[in-house]
Amino acid sequence: MRHRSEPVFTSDRPLLEVDLDAIVANRRLLMDLAPSAEVAGVLKADGYGLGAVQVAGALAADGCQTFFVATSDEALALRQSQPDARIFLLGGPGWGAERELAQARILPALNDPSQLARWRATAADLGRRLPAAIQLDTGMCRLGFDAKDLGDLDLEGIDLVLVLSHLGVADEPGHPLNETQHQAFQAMRALLPAAPASLAASSGILLGKRFHFDLVRPGIALYGAQPVADRPVALKPVVRLMVRVIQVHDVEAPGTVGYGATHQVARGTRIATLPIGYADGLLRAAGGRITVKVAGMDVPVVGRISMDLVTIDVTALDGQVRPGTPVEVLAGAGAVDRYAAAAGTIPYELLVRLGSRIERRYVGGGA
Ligand SMILES: *Cc1c(COP(=O)(O)O)cnc(C)c1O
Repeated sequence: MRHRSEPVFTSDRPLLEVDLDAIVANRRLLMDLAPSAEVAGVLKADGYGLGAVQVAGALAADGCQTFFVATSDEALALRQSQPDARIFLLGGPGWGAERELAQARILPALNDPSQLARWRATAADLGRRLPAAIQLDTGMCRLGFDAKDLGDLDLEGIDLVLVLSHLGVADEPGHPLNETQHQAFQAMRALLPAAPASLAASSGILLGKRFHFDLVRPGIALYGAQPVADRPVALKPVVRLMVRVIQVHDVEAPGTVGYGATHQVARGTRIATLPIGYADGLLRAAGGRITVKVAGMDVPVVGRISMDLVTIDVTALDGQVRPGTPVEVLAGAGAVDRYAAAAGTIPYELLVRLGSRIERRYVGGGA
């Protein structure tokens, strides 16, 4: 394997290195935290922007047999590379896609009486029973059956393979809604035929064994970000985002940098420009609030983040920075969490917004 400190990218295209071994290691850590449950992998939004096919391949090679996606297209695309895995579709069967989903052996979560009716009709149409999950709304008011709809469910033709619900505040372990949702989940499950149960995503795993049931559904923790900010667990960093300096300027005081002239230099300053911007998912709100790493040193991003460019202050590096010098924009433990916090958002949004101009390269996982 290539030495990790020597990026081989040569163009003005940012490079995102995705460490598939780290994703596998993170799932194993979650298996230790939830030893009595199956640990599935959540791959919605193209594996949180990192590549659902590659992530699924690495996880499946390590024994992960169950995946969750959000949409019908995501489910059908994943089936191409995962002929044997269980693929759950959280949003329910897409209108008009029911037969194709059934033929691809996708397992939709049925979220309300109309989705149940459509899946039953598909089973009748195909003349065979169809497996499905039922999702319960236990307090998030987002997706899933309400308690009032469970009284006389007609599951004719449906094999119930999972009952699931989703927690709204599991990242706040002390919040009373966690207990309320747990109780509602138990009460609502009792109205359904017996089936394996799933309540916890990444943060729910940290709530302890009572929340694990038969299967847990982590996403963000697999991708290396902390599910509960003040309860860090030993997750491995998964992404490393690199780019090369495109130009270097020496700015005399008083001068300003970037749109809006928001950054004023007080003394002679060396500014390096990087070919990456908000079009690539470098969230504009983080301008002036984050650092990047050059030659092992943290240097500040200064001025506003442009669409295709960003500027950094490399004065402290004393002439070592030239066009072509590699820069780590995101790397190491906590980088995604810190960057997202600086932009006033969450690691999920930062990851899924990493844009299509960024080249993705995979390390480990047999890649
Ligand atoms: C996104 C999602 C998950 C995964 O959540 P993480 O916080 O990323 O672990 C699990 N279940 C459902 C229903 C989801 O929507």
